[in-house]
Amino acid sequence: MSFTMHGVGVSSGIAIGHAHLVSHALLEVAHYEVPDDLIEAEVIRFSQAVDTVRAELGSIYHSLPGNAPAEMSAFVGTHLMILADRALSELPKDIIRTESCNAEWALKLQMDDLVAQFEEIEDDYLRERKHDVVQVVERVIKALLGHPGQMAVSRQEQSIILVAHDLSPADAIQFKQHQFAAFITDVGGSTSHTAILARSLNIPSIVALHHARDLIHDGELIIIDGGQGVVIVNPDKDALAEYRLRQEQWELEQQKLKRLKQTRAVTLDGTSVELLANIEVPEDVVQTRAVGATGVGLYRTEFLFMNRREWPTEEEQFESYRKVAEAMRGHSVTIRTLDIGADKQIEADSVRTCTNPALGLRAIRLCLTEPHVFHTQLRAILRASHYGRVKILIPMLSNQSELHQTMLLIERAKQSLRDEKIAFDELIPVGGMIEIPAAALAADTFARKMDFLSIGTNDLIQYTLAIDRTDDTVAHLYQPLHPAVLQLISMTIRAANKAGKPVAVCGEMAGDAGLTRLLLGFGLRQFSMHPAHILAIKRQVLQTNLPRISKLVRKILACSDSEQIVPLLAKLNA
Ligand code: PEP
Ligand code: MG
Repeated sequence: MSFTMHGVGVSSGIAIGHAHLVSHALLEVAHYEVPDDLIEAEVIRFSQAVDTVRAELGSIYHSLPGNAPAEMSAFVGTHLMILADRALSELPKDIIRTESCNAEWALKLQMDDLVAQFEEIEDDYLRERKHDVVQVVERVIKALLGHPGQMAVSRQEQSIILVAHDLSPADAIQFKQHQFAAFITDVGGSTSHTAILARSLNIPSIVALHHARDLIHDGELIIIDGGQGVVIVNPDKDALAEYRLRQEQWELEQQKLKRLKQTRAVTLDGTSVELLANIEVPEDVVQTRAVGATGVGLYRTEFLFMNRREWPTEEEQFESYRKVAEAMRGHSVTIRTLDIGADKQIEADSVRTCTNPALGLRAIRLCLTEPHVFHTQLRAILRASHYGRVKILIPMLSNQSELHQTMLLIERAKQSLRDEKIAFDELIPVGGMIEIPAAALAADTFARKMDFLSIGTNDLIQYTLAIDRTDDTVAHLYQPLHPAVLQLISMTIRAANKAGKPVAVCGEMAGDAGLTRLLLGFGLRQFSMHPAHILAIKRQVLQTNLPRISKLVRKILACSDSEQIVPLLAKLNA
């Protein structure tokens, strides 16, 4: 029987292949009594399984390719730490002895206890770490049950679609060495480890399908549309033919797009447009250069602060920033200062609890209350500015007092470097993110006082419409085309253009080819997005005639209802 499932698409593309169910060892755990004279042997069996997993994780850690994203080694490191904890490597031995039970069961009891403790934690980020505990336990149980820890390599793996309950980062690293067609999981949100890694795997993937592992059977034919978050199980002949065609078209299109790499992004009427990349780790520069981006428009530095217990040092930050500045060879690199809090929690800051994190102490607010953390980062960015064209971008500004304090702290960081005779770019540009409606309404003042602006549409939509961007249940109300959102964007672009200051959009809207013409019509000339979208956006730019679209853009801006906007936008894109 054919049926369709919907999840959250985290990586685009179409894949057609056979399902391979990744085993869920925890479901296979049996409980049996171990006779007294065999208890110590059972304890040894447990210790050996722990040793096997330690060796397995160690070998994954050491075989990471040099260009693997930094967070991958951090993930495996976290799993090694969890495994080394007494709670997992020692206490199950006591349970085997006191309960006279088998090792798998003892480990499962201990895991249930740990997970229950994690569930009591209020902090979302820390609570989610229970998944890491479960993933490590899964590995030990697989070792106990004699399942191979490594993925079996199949000859026709290009047509295999992995169906898993969850993927551990260690699994994802192994996947990197294979060429599976796609993967889908039951759990995981857009900020889960799985989603972060999915982007770097560059194959279609969908998370949060809830029951994929229960409903899909091993070997069944499935279609994955990563862009739409759709899975079709046992497609009928028509669906299969349609998706084969779409897949061919998608692949052909990717090939065609590759040819645009060297082409300058200029509209039909001769207006130049800058297409920049959003990056999260220095290794992303490889993809950024491969698609011919003319700079980094948003370097989200918070990933350097994740999956670790201590704050990164100035030296470590400097090395990362310098690496990017140098690798971009004279192209601009816009480094955003720390934007943690809300959906981007870090362990080093886990003591803080907010009643409403998205409206709480995040981004620049947090940096201004922790000036030493900010000072360290500013010094690292300033030092890196000596090695390339670096700019500083401040997230979540909402008022002039924050801007004033920020500028004072930047000056203090500069002075400390001058005192130590350390070189940096004295004229380093400082820009502000416009992602709070109040900031958009005051865009003219920010534009006058700052060197450039960058519109963070992801948050601007969230705050304008009061829709939590991480909450599935209100996702349908998260509307980039809401007239209020469009007004705020257009107003910010106008204010910056009037002040003669560059302005970019660096939220997801910049990478949506359906919105390129509209944003160009608003006067936008800089788009910053995930490198995977750059060539498709370039094609839109190349096919746009600005004088021809201006009337329709004005009409869209005058609409009071997004339902009226949809057909007009289709006409604009025709
Ligand atoms: C945004 O809010 O649009 C943005 C680019 O920042 P982030 O997604 O990192 O919050
Ligand atoms: Mg933001």
